[in-house]
Amino acid sequence: MAYKETFWMACDSTEQLRAEYGPFHTRGEAEREARKLGFGFLLRYEHMIGEKDDIQEVRCIFIELPSAPVLVRTNRKLHTRCATCGESSVHDESWRAEVWADIHEFEHSRHLVRLFEQTRAEGLKEIEDWRDTCA
Ligand SMILES: [Zn+2]
Repeated sequence: MAYKETFWMACDSTEQLRAEYGPFHTRGEAEREARKLGFGFLLRYEHMIGEKDDIQEVRCIFIELPSAPVLVRTNRKLHTRCATCGESSVHDESWRAEVWADIHEFEHSRHLVRLFEQTRAEGLKEIEDWRDTCA
């Protein structure tokens, strides 16, 4: 039975005369290596293998890597939202979220501010009892 074999290469351009490095079994490996080498592209090869283990068809797809390193963008964001009136804000640091909540609850008596943490992996997640642990 025919089957498909896939592997990845890191490469520096989409030109005919390009530097390629690899092969890698996963896209992640190829991407890591490409970043180390300063290469801007990945090349995904697909070999259609026939019944006699002969390559019947070769397909290759270029994938351009985003120019900004992905790792820089994993910072979490803190979202404060008042459960009473709905006013909300976004903060980079937890002490800023605390200050925002303090001011809001001082200006509006009996309002309750809730805190949410946003990460790329998990999305928005409420942090319960946050003011108690910060105090
Ligand atoms: Zn409020």
